[in-house]
Amino acid sequence: MPSRPKVQQDAGSGSKKTMAKHIFVTGGVVSSLGKGLTSASVGMLLERRGLRIRLQKFDPYINVDPGTMSPYQHGEVYVLDDGAETDLDLGHYERFTNSLLNRDSNTTTGKIYLSVIQKEREGSYYDGNTVQVIPHVTDEIKDMVYRLATDDVDVVITEIGGTIGDIESLPFLEAIRQFALEVGRENCLYIHLTLVPYLKAAGELKTKPTQHSVGQMRQIGIQPDILICRTEHPIPQHEKDKIALFCNVEKKAVIEERDKEFTIYEVPLSLVNNGLDDLIVKRLGLKAGPLDIADWRALVDRVKQPKHEVTIAVVGKYIKHRDAYKSVYESLDHAGISHRARVLVRRVESEDISSQGAEALLGGVDGILIPGGFGMRGIEGKIEAIRYARKQNIPFFGICLGMQCAVIEFARDEIGLVDANSTEFDQDTQHPVISLMADQHEVNERGGTMRLGLWPCQLQEGSLAHKAYGKLDIQERHRHRYEVNNDYRERLIQAGLTPTGVSPDGTLVEIVECKDHPWFLAVQFHPEFLSKPTKSHPLFRDFIGASLARRQSKRAEHV
Ligand code: GLN
Repeated sequence: MPSRPKVQQDAGSGSKKTMAKHIFVTGGVVSSLGKGLTSASVGMLLERRGLRIRLQKFDPYINVDPGTMSPYQHGEVYVLDDGAETDLDLGHYERFTNSLLNRDSNTTTGKIYLSVIQKEREGSYYDGNTVQVIPHVTDEIKDMVYRLATDDVDVVITEIGGTIGDIESLPFLEAIRQFALEVGRENCLYIHLTLVPYLKAAGELKTKPTQHSVGQMRQIGIQPDILICRTEHPIPQHEKDKIALFCNVEKKAVIEERDKEFTIYEVPLSLVNNGLDDLIVKRLGLKAGPLDIADWRALVDRVKQPKHEVTIAVVGKYIKHRDAYKSVYESLDHAGISHRARVLVRRVESEDISSQGAEALLGGVDGILIPGGFGMRGIEGKIEAIRYARKQNIPFFGICLGMQCAVIEFARDEIGLVDANSTEFDQDTQHPVISLMADQHEVNERGGTMRLGLWPCQLQEGSLAHKAYGKLDIQERHRHRYEVNNDYRERLIQAGLTPTGVSPDGTLVEIVECKDHPWFLAVQFHPEFLSKPTKSHPLFRDFIGASLARRQSKRAEHV
């Protein structure tokens, strides 16, 4: 039986109590409304009023975790310290708050059913009963909420993925409905995010989709307390009043969330301006302090008034999906903020480099970044992009697959191993400079079996990496199966590609740097998972620094 910390039977009423308060965030009308950002913003505002929060996400799909999915499905797979492969919304949570996240912070239908079925197979757990969605699946879902409500938490924020009306979300919605009965309605707050579209032809904002969406929530038995309405245009008070009346919420609980012109970091500020934090604190009876958000306001000002500009090419194979490299794009922004620079990203499909040539697609950029990835498609284009960066002295930053491609490129061009490759792409290559890690040979299942999560790494003194981090011992998050083949390490070093970061036992190459180049650095890990708007990751910061320096020296040449 999963433990239920902090749950006490309330003698008499039969209801259960947790000390923590609970916020549930649902979405209606359309998907992609930015529920993740809104949930992260709610967490941030409460945290900055002195409350201790935990965030989690429920995802209604049947995959046990998103690790087995293509980035084209739900965007990037976000990796946590403990190696959990999670939804990208957890990236927003980590970037906006200090909420502790671990593998309990993202729960899918698949994970719930896996647990229920395992218990059923054990035999005694369900004591001969028919195992059903209600109560067994819903109990399992509620357990995931209770699990986060430990002594050191004031508010648990649970985001429910998907859109009201989806068949798949129903057990989750039923569970959060039941939850209020168990802990007391006064300890729960339901926030529903909707869209108020503007119809050009009518010249009007339309509230009907919101009314329908809330209607569906009420059919399920949940009356939202707060509506956050995404909109392109300001919602006039009389329209807000109409929404309040038809949706049975207080007038001041209709909160406008207008599209942001400059940056997503404005979202929490606009929610404050619309009174959201006060409303939540009051409704849940929280003992909160004053809002401490001055640094965030300063950050937004910096984003709005950059002093420099820099163009970075991101060369990948999932370029068409906006969210496939979400944390990479975010980390570039963070690095830009630390230099007061606007980072313009040129998204380049790696296959196009093979057909059109590197100069055509990368000419004029100030830096080139190759992110992680899987599979053969687009590899040769990435290798060409790396060669271009190396030969033209353009700052280069390779991440995971980006580093593996950098090693292949170097081995081919500088050592003369013309068919050097990774065994991921060519099993029979004469020169497998990248090969499967020793402990991966016996692995047959794909889900959750890569080298995942936080691992230590030791840096070489005087390296670019050492300069960036300012220390020699670091820890970074990983997600890969392949590694630099140590049989080639010495030859790579002789030819000028130095391993400047290795695992403490020296067996795994974690970072390589190229001598005789202003800034050429590639890493086997994923630094993009440890960058924050208020504290750029040191490698991204120095990559953007080097790119800015190149741009400025190019400018000087032309004067
Ligand atoms: N496909 C490579 C590997 O498994 C790189 C993975 C990645 O870029 N995350 O090692």
